Amino acid sequence: MLKSALASFALIATVICTLAGQKQASSEKTGQTVTLRWLGTAGWEISDGTTVILIDPYVSRIWGPQPPGRTPYARTTGDTRPVYGWEDVATPDVAAIEAHVQRADYVLVTHTHYDHVLDVPQIALKTHATVIGTESTENVMRAYKIPDEQLITVRGGEDYEFGAFSLKVIPSLHSPLDHKRYFSSEKAPENMKAPLTLRQMHPEGGTLAFLLRFHGHQILAFGGMNYIEREIEGLEPDVVLVGAAGSRKENYDYCGRLMRALHFPALVLPTHWDNFTAPFEASQQASIDALQSFIEEIKAASPRTQVIVPKYFEAVPLAAAKH
Ligand SMILES: [Zn+2]
Repeated sequence: MLKSALASFALIATVICTLAGQKQASSEKTGQTVTLRWLGTAGWEISDGTTVILIDPYVSRIWGPQPPGRTPYARTTGDTRPVYGWEDVATPDVAAIEAHVQRADYVLVTHTHYDHVLDVPQIALKTHATVIGTESTENVMRAYKIPDEQLITVRGGEDYEFGAFSLKVIPSLHSPLDHKRYFSSEKAPENMKAPLTLRQMHPEGGTLAFLLRFHGHQILAFGGMNYIEREIEGLEPDVVLVGAAGSRKENYDYCGRLMRALHFPALVLPTHWDNFTAPFEASQQASIDALQSFIEEIKAASPRTQVIVPKYFEAVPLAAAKH
């Protein structure tokens, strides 16, 4: 009697475990090290050595129009690169892309502004990566004849399985530039023909955030200095790429609300805080100085959160994820 009870318990336990095993998506398996590398601006490479995911990759860093409402960045002495206006053709720095972007499987784009999207057509053509973004972003890709097989159009709310990782697309908000005066409901239209001007590459098209589940990690990536609190409430990422430039201060309790909504993540990496009109070799000291108040805000809101200030292209390996 006891023997058969034990046997049926074992059988039930096996069934439960098998079911639980089946429920675990491949993207939730732990094991391999996930490494992040900052590409400058809001750009990141996230990789396990096999699958390479880029977010807002922008390495051209042209001397282009600056965000409205802020004190304009001064041009670095000796910077002889071309000066771009809105009506100029958006020309990626192919040499910079060759140097800094070797491969990519997926490119995630938060919104269609030139400091997020300018390099993406060239990267998509070079790497054959799948570009995931808004209708606006995908229309920019179509202008450059990126094949439809490489395009996944999203609006926010999707939660997609890709095998190596899964991706929750989150409706978000653009940075409140120009002392909250910035607003755009424009999107890039269909049937544009490359080459596009900077203006054609800059109709916001709505803004997204992304939650990547990758080898047991949950990485939440923002492309700017805002979020919709109710869209992120209850997420529990261990890593958050948080927009950290000055326009965050236009928001009420930006870091406090964010840290509480996300249940105090283990690691914050500030993003989109550098002067993206300057070349990689230029000093970013003024931006690093300005960043200190952001670090203090995170520490005050979430004392146990580690903040790592990334350096261009330096690997930030994540500790092995807990089961
Ligand atoms: Zn933007």
